[in-house]
Amino acid sequence: MAFPSLSLSHGLFPKLGTHQLIAKTTESTRNLCKSTLYLFLALAAPFVAYRGYQSFTMYRSSSSPYSPKTDAESLRRQRISSSKLHTPDVSSKAPVIYSSCYDISFLGIEKLHPFDSSKWGRICQFLISEGYLEKISIVEPLEASNEDLLVVHTEAYLNSLKNSVNVAKITEVPPVALLPNWLVQMKVLYPFRRQVGGTVLAAKFAKERGWAINVGGGFHHCSGGRGGGFCAYADISLCIHFAFVRSNISRVMIIDLDAHQGNGHEMDFGNDERVYILDMYNPEIYPFDMTARNYINQKVEVVTGTTTGEYLEQLDKALAVASSFAPELIIYNAGTDILDGDPLGGLKVSPDGVVQRDEKVFRFARERNIPIVMVTSGGYMKTSARVIANSIINLSEKGLIDTSVRSGRK
Ligand SMILES: [Zn+2]
Repeated sequence: MAFPSLSLSHGLFPKLGTHQLIAKTTESTRNLCKSTLYLFLALAAPFVAYRGYQSFTMYRSSSSPYSPKTDAESLRRQRISSSKLHTPDVSSKAPVIYSSCYDISFLGIEKLHPFDSSKWGRICQFLISEGYLEKISIVEPLEASNEDLLVVHTEAYLNSLKNSVNVAKITEVPPVALLPNWLVQMKVLYPFRRQVGGTVLAAKFAKERGWAINVGGGFHHCSGGRGGGFCAYADISLCIHFAFVRSNISRVMIIDLDAHQGNGHEMDFGNDERVYILDMYNPEIYPFDMTARNYINQKVEVVTGTTTGEYLEQLDKALAVASSFAPELIIYNAGTDILDGDPLGGLKVSPDGVVQRDEKVFRFARERNIPIVMVTSGGYMKTSARVIANSIINLSEKGLIDTSVRSGRK
């Protein structure tokens, strides 16, 4: 852009003498310089401000109190604080969480999988029909929203679930790959998201009442960045992060007694000293995750063919070792695929052995006054629902839990 020429001054001051003209011209030049300086400053200010902002953000990322890690942590806390998953009023309910939305059943797809994908509803039916639970006292959780899931999951992972082929791989049901994603979201992922909401709510409930059972959940193969083994969302990791922030808890123990190794939560809490992981699993079956195995605090490997007596003896020893950690919350992943005859687990634990196992874990928690959350995890034989219901009934009869409504019957 060109500056105004002196000829303009001539036009402006046609009747002035030479000295006056020189004086006026000098004044005019001064004004011109001032204007130019202002113009320069006006143009330069945004650039200077931008560079200043860049330097500030570089300073923030290079100095410890304002690192990207801290930013990610404060975003996580913000997401947890604004979540609605703790909203349902549980004051007049039993600490048993379930929704009929948990059950997966459509187009006969569920029959293609060795899983009983309606076991969650059947557990509640047994408890209700046998008088151990009232339907109105069951707590219905909310669906975990995208913002809730981002507390643990990466955006890239959640986006990958918008492709039915990826969901088919995770759920191990190949025909799911052929379905439009909106149908997969509605019929497969939505039920899972409700179960995730159930596990998160269970931790709040357990803190208030000493114990809580999410009749679903326990997707222990899923970590923040990867799903697998029928586990699309990392409900255990999510519930622990919510407990850190919303329930002011700083030490959590995961007792994972599903037949499979819980590689999802292990990857998520590998270097986190706030979380102690006791995992008893069959090392000869899925997922063979050697990296995640390094993150287990107490690893108890129970090989194919392990019987009830051996299993329970190993559990007693493991709990005795774990007791030194003194957690403020226990997440108990109570998979029933340790049952004799389970097509995936390879172990030979009897139905009564499962009942005794759950009793040992609840006794461990209740005697130490540690709130405990139980999730039902794997084990989808037709008999699994009955065994889980029997176990909950046993816990109730032994006085380890009370499923009656607070103001209702005892
Ligand atoms: Zn399992």
